[in-house]
Amino acid sequence: MQLMVLGCYAPYAPALGACSGYLIQNEGLNIMLDCGHGTFAQLQSYIDFRKLHTLVISHFHPDHYVDIYAIRHAFSGALRDGTRKEPLIVYAPSEPQSIFEEISSWREVFITIPLEDAMLRENRFGNVTLSFFPTTHPMPCFGIKISSAEEKFTYTSDTAWTSNLVDQCLDSNIILAEASLRETDIEHTNRGHMTAKQSGLLAQNARAKTLILTHFWPEYNLDQLKREAETSFEGLVELAQMGKVFTF
Ligand SMILES: [Zn+2]
Repeated sequence: MQLMVLGCYAPYAPALGACSGYLIQNEGLNIMLDCGHGTFAQLQSYIDFRKLHTLVISHFHPDHYVDIYAIRHAFSGALRDGTRKEPLIVYAPSEPQSIFEEISSWREVFITIPLEDAMLRENRFGNVTLSFFPTTHPMPCFGIKISSAEEKFTYTSDTAWTSNLVDQCLDSNIILAEASLRETDIEHTNRGHMTAKQSGLLAQNARAKTLILTHFWPEYNLDQLKREAETSFEGLVELAQMGKVFTF
């Protein structure tokens, strides 16, 4: 399995940057996790977008989903000119209802599946299984687990620290975790985010091998976030960076 970082910033991107977006590749399968500002352009630097099989939108904060409007037009054109045969499978929360209904109304382009339904079953694609769990955030938001025979990977999306989060991440080899805050900004975690140190604690308690930090405020010093995560996690701490590939 391979993870490519398409974007790692929040809630806005710096010059030439992109917000949350990741490409998972496994045996020819291309799965995009989140599609924040600028991520669809990044995706096209690496693959033909027509080869995308599935898109998962963790929640409807703009920095995680706004490129859906670009993706809609790209797929609409490709379906029209015959270079793409099938609609794109899109998993998304059913709330806020107005956004979900707008996206699911584009039936010729997307097959939209509510994450609340998908959460209750195994979602198998080739040799990988996707499963979802609710996180603690100001709007409905879902973490994403991807398992193959060899590896277990979890993406926290946006969330505050909870013990349930540890349970959900338990025994994941690789955790892609949001590190929205420095330790000095911990008073802001009631908004539904974690500090880098809490991300480290999550990886430690979940017995992960590798923690990849992401969801960075563009003004932060990333080396400082890495050091803070390393104070609570004994494994390997990596920083998500646009274009960086992790193979596992
Ligand atoms: Zn959010």
